[in-house]
Amino acid sequence: MKLVSSVAATSAALVIASSAFAQSEATVAAHVARARQLAGDDLKALLVLCQPAPSARSTPRERDERIAREIARPVPEPGKAFDNLYYVGAAWVSAWAIRTSQGLILIDALNNNQEAAEVIDPGLRKLGLSPADIKNVIVTHAHGDHYGGATYLQQKHGAKVVMSEQDWTQSETGEVITSAHWGPMPKRDVTVREGDKVTLGDTAVTIHITPGHTVGTITPVFEAKSGGKTHRVVLWGGTAFNFGNNIPRLDSYAEATDRIARLAQEQGIDVMISNHAAYDGAFAKLAQLRKQGAMEPNPFVIGTPAVVRGLQTMGECARAQKDRFLLQK
Ligand SMILES: [Zn+2]
Repeated sequence: MKLVSSVAATSAALVIASSAFAQSEATVAAHVARARQLAGDDLKALLVLCQPAPSARSTPRERDERIAREIARPVPEPGKAFDNLYYVGAAWVSAWAIRTSQGLILIDALNNNQEAAEVIDPGLRKLGLSPADIKNVIVTHAHGDHYGGATYLQQKHGAKVVMSEQDWTQSETGEVITSAHWGPMPKRDVTVREGDKVTLGDTAVTIHITPGHTVGTITPVFEAKSGGKTHRVVLWGGTAFNFGNNIPRLDSYAEATDRIARLAQEQGIDVMISNHAAYDGAFAKLAQLRKQGAMEPNPFVIGTPAVVRGLQTMGECARAQKDRFLLQK
C-alpha cells in the first residue's frame, strides 16, 4: 500500500515537472497524433510534414543534386482538373493554368526557362490552350522551382509576373536559397499584398499571404467549375519546413494554417490543391478524371471539412516541429 501511494506521488510530481515546461517529447507526440487523426486516410500525404525536419538548411550541393534528380523525372501528361483549371506542371513541381474569358492565369513557372518552354507550353497546347494567352504568372513563393521559368514566360508571351512584396524584396536582396538548376529571378512586374485580387476577364484570384515556407508565400483562392457546379479552390502556396531551426517561421506557418482554415470554413472552400503533386495526389485524380464519366463526382472536390482538416494537419505538424526544435536547445 505504501509502495502504491509513493508511485502515485512520484508520477504526480513528474506531471507537474513536465507541465512546468511548455515543450516535451509528450507535446511533440501529441501534435503528431492529432495531425494523424486529422489527416485520416484521405490526407495521409500531408503527414510527411510531421517527420522531423533538419535543424539546418540543406547545403547548395545537396539542393542541386536533389533538384537535378527531380527535373530528370519523366514529364507527366497534362490534364484538365476542372472546366477552367488545368495541370501543366512537371513530375515534382506543379504549374496550374486558370482559363478566363481574357486569357490564362498561370500559377507557378517551374524550375527554369527550358522547363517552362518544354513542359508548360506543350502541355497547354495538348489541352487545346494557347501559351500566348498567358497574361499573368502568380509565383507562389521565391524559390526557383516556382519562379525559374518566369523570365521565359515574360519574354516569350508578355506575361506579367505576380509575387508578394516580401518575396520580391527577399529575392532582390539575395536573402533566398538558390540552385544552379534554377532560372534567374524574373524582373519585378506586379506586387501583391493580403486581400489583393488578380483579375483577368471574368475571373478573380484572391491573394492571401501565408508566411511560413517563405516570408511572403502566396496562397491563392479562386473558383473552379465542374459538372455545372462552382467550387472554391485554395492552393496552399508553400508546404515543407525547409528553413531549418526557425521558430518564428514555424509560428507564422501554424498561424497561417489556422487563418486559412477559418477562411475555408467561412467561404465553403471545397478544393485544396498544391504546387507539388506529392501533396495533393493530382496525378491519380487527373488519371481518374480521364477514365470516368462527365457526371461522376470530381475527385479534386474533397469538401470543406477535408480542406479544413488538411490545413489543421499542416498546422499540427508545424507545432510538433516547433516543439522538437525548442527541445534541441
Ligand atoms: Zn519552396
